[in-house]
Amino acid sequence: MEPMFNPALHRQRHQFVIDFVKRNKPRKVADLGCGECSLLKKLKFHHEVELLAGVDIDGAKLKKHKHGLAPISTDYLQPTYDQLRIELYQGSVTQHDARLRGFDLVTSIELIEHLTLPDLERFSEVVFGYMNPVAAIISTPNSEYNPLLPGLRGFRHVDHKFEWTRAEFQSWAVKVSLQNGYKVEFTGVGEAPPGQQERVGFCSQIAVFHRLRGRDGYNILFRDDAEDVFSYTLLYSINYPSLHDNNILRRVLVTEVIYWTEKLKRRWREDRTGERDESFEQCQAAEGAESLRSSECGAVMNSIMEHCTRCTAEIQEEEEFESKEEQESCGLQRCVPVPLAVLWTSCPKVGALSGSLCNLRHILMGNPEIQLSQDGSSLLVNLQEQDPEEEDLDDLEDSGYAEARQCPHSAAQEEDWETNV
Ligand code: SAM
Repeated sequence: MEPMFNPALHRQRHQFVIDFVKRNKPRKVADLGCGECSLLKKLKFHHEVELLAGVDIDGAKLKKHKHGLAPISTDYLQPTYDQLRIELYQGSVTQHDARLRGFDLVTSIELIEHLTLPDLERFSEVVFGYMNPVAAIISTPNSEYNPLLPGLRGFRHVDHKFEWTRAEFQSWAVKVSLQNGYKVEFTGVGEAPPGQQERVGFCSQIAVFHRLRGRDGYNILFRDDAEDVFSYTLLYSINYPSLHDNNILRRVLVTEVIYWTEKLKRRWREDRTGERDESFEQCQAAEGAESLRSSECGAVMNSIMEHCTRCTAEIQEEEEFESKEEQESCGLQRCVPVPLAVLWTSCPKVGALSGSLCNLRHILMGNPEIQLSQDGSSLLVNLQEQDPEEEDLDDLEDSGYAEARQCPHSAAQEEDWETNV
């Protein structure tokens, strides 16, 4: 049988909410009767949303579907400054819970028709009187459309306690608006066939409520009925990785610096040997990173290379004078110092993440994966390939041995020679 609606009706309902979110940019959104969490899964991609809460009476359903709300690998690999926390609660919309107060938007999609009329009364008080969101979107079947649904006898679902005409829905919505200081407008999704829209209306009717006191109208501190009720059970909560988290910011910054260190190493090696090393590029391309960075990369590399040509040229000159044995014995730690100031100004991402040169130095200084000159002013890019035996030499760093063999062009290293001698 041909589907009646394209896109499917449930998708159209969710799209209605998403369009509202795009226009109004709420930061805190709660979905009541969230069921399989499919609306929450779509809303988590909206950058403005910082807190997403789902409530459903069916805890087993929430437990089954909560995993779809977890961050995916890109959220960890390429975190942004966006902040998102998701919470799932098992509880009834007929009960108060203080954690659901003060939201910008509360949605309740195809839920109210599952409530008995006394429970609907409680729901109205809980949502509009207690949660008191800036806006609310409530959808429910429009019974006037039912004759157009092929083969339908009675309600659309066995659990429905009622299905309302447009007049019934509007009368309830206007009443709760007047009682709680909201204005309401009506619309819907799932259009009727041509010529019948006015007579039967939308298949799903929707009421959009706006609090009359607007965004600043709610103040929990001045409500005399404020009470700390926690009747819902928190089943799931997750904070998405964000660059606002210092540990994550440090990790991303260090990874970025290591990335540029590796690129520079290869470029200098290629310049010296005349051989092109494809392996790194292939590896990066396979990860999808290279295509994103290719244009940015050329400019950054050129900028850094310009500042370091003197140093690399001198290393090359020295090598030309040294025999192969000498190179093997003393060239283990041929490092090119890249001033952090150059790195900071040349790599936009490094600059943006660290904020200041001082921060960059501070973050890199304590990191075991990064080699800095002794005064902390330069990143040392070691041009030698390390084989596993050589890696053992790294252990000697603590004794000062390795530092004593670093690039002769760092003032810090020269001082170190002095002390070691
Ligand atoms: N809103 C979801 C959507 O758009 O796909 C699911 C709608 S489903 C038809 C109705 C949901 O309301 C079910 O998941 C049900 O468990 C939930 N529900 C019913 N009574 C409830 C109550 N008193 N409190 C919270 N959730 C309730």
